[in-house]
Amino acid sequence: MIIGPSDLRIPVKARYSKADMRILVGLLTVHCTLKDKLHQMKKSDDRLCSYCGKERERSEHLLMKCKAPILLANRMKHLGSYFFLDKDIRDVPLDKLLRFARDTGIAKKLCYRPIIDVSQE
Ligand SMILES: [Zn+2]
Repeated sequence: MIIGPSDLRIPVKARYSKADMRILVGLLTVHCTLKDKLHQMKKSDDRLCSYCGKERERSEHLLMKCKAPILLANRMKHLGSYFFLDKDIRDVPLDKLLRFARDTGIAKKLCYRPIIDVSQE
């Protein structure tokens, strides 16, 4: 886990959609639908990274360490570095994390769709 839920400091003025909040929470906590988590929940046999296939697919791996070309390029483009340490990723603005997640396809992996859609009831 990168941070705990109480550490997720969303600026008061920030207005994020429900989908953006879902992406940010998934990216910055263990509450996500990445393959390692699905494997822990016995929902998937595969826990390896969809991009490099070498490490467990977890937020911290995708955000800071994965060496897959698409992640390296977008990490540099949006976050300003090829790799990050845990303490450094905390300083990256949330808007940049969202752009990184969208451009790499990670956002789609984090947009968990519940089995029952309570919004239409
Ligand atoms: Zn990887």
